[in-house]
Amino acid sequence: MFDNKESKTDLSELGEFGLIDHLTRYLTINQPSTKIGIGDDAAVLNFEGDQTVVTTDLLVEGVHFDLSFMPLKHLGYKAVMVNLSDVYAMNAEATQITVSIAASNRFPVEALEELYAGIQLAAEIYKVDVVGGDTTSSTSGLMISITALGKATPEKITTRSGAKPNDLLVVSGDLGAAYMGLQVLEREKQVFKANPNAQPDLDAYTYIVERQLKPEARKDIPELFNALEVQPTSMIDISDGLSSEVIHLCKNSKVGANIFEEKIPLDPTVISVCEEFNIDSTMVALSGGEDYELLFTIDQKDYDKIKGNPHLTVIGHMTEEKEGMHLITRANQKLPIQSRGWNSFDDAKDEE
Ligand SMILES: [Mg+2]
Repeated sequence: MFDNKESKTDLSELGEFGLIDHLTRYLTINQPSTKIGIGDDAAVLNFEGDQTVVTTDLLVEGVHFDLSFMPLKHLGYKAVMVNLSDVYAMNAEATQITVSIAASNRFPVEALEELYAGIQLAAEIYKVDVVGGDTTSSTSGLMISITALGKATPEKITTRSGAKPNDLLVVSGDLGAAYMGLQVLEREKQVFKANPNAQPDLDAYTYIVERQLKPEARKDIPELFNALEVQPTSMIDISDGLSSEVIHLCKNSKVGANIFEEKIPLDPTVISVCEEFNIDSTMVALSGGEDYELLFTIDQKDYDKIKGNPHLTVIGHMTEEKEGMHLITRANQKLPIQSRGWNSFDDAKDEE
């Protein structure tokens, strides 16, 4: 679970304020919009005319993460990514985060140090300031809540509701890898339970396991839009699988969509591991989740600006609302798109 097993300092030894000081001692402030960070009753931010984007996520042990294969440093990093991804999905720049942690007495100070090391690394790489938070005890398990703030000019902010018929539907990166990484990790966990001496050999699965354990939010995509002078008409991040995100864009924008199966970007590892697990790779891309890629629409006149970009793939186009949402298969069948995104309230299939 955590790497440092040598020393175990009980959380109560430091006290709440001592613990916050201890965990945040190496944090630096880099954003000019951060006027006051940690250390006062509240942070003070100044976005000077830009609009502010705010998003929050709560991660609960046993529901959103499994510490038997998730190192705490990775968990801290991923918890930040999950939030920054939502800021980038608004076509905004992420600037600050706050971090709240509840941990049971099974977590010594050293465990929270590892968690915070991941949070700090993410903050450094993505240039966001940690400006507040809280730590408290919990009766069981670990919970992390992160709030991310960002900024953008009003013209740049991109919601889920601006897509028009004939707009192109575009996705960044590739899909399905995080889900298949989870399948591999869960399989190895079962092998380890049966035979604790078994050494997992994950070499062939490096890419997909990293996509599960250490996802990267697409900070580069809003920057690319800026450089290419593209204003997406709508955007969402892919946390629950392509199909449920397409449905969100269509419902919010009051349009339909056609997605072409052959266009969905898949890494070769995903294709081979899907064969190994006997799972359909299109189904994994549609329903897998946790890819943290961006899904957006652009006006057709902007196609030349993104054409040939290795980070972006046009997977379909929007239609009139009455035409509905469809997947056009490789066999040229037209199948209605349904939401099978993972739902933490109900593990049964969600057919809304
Ligand atoms: Mg989102």
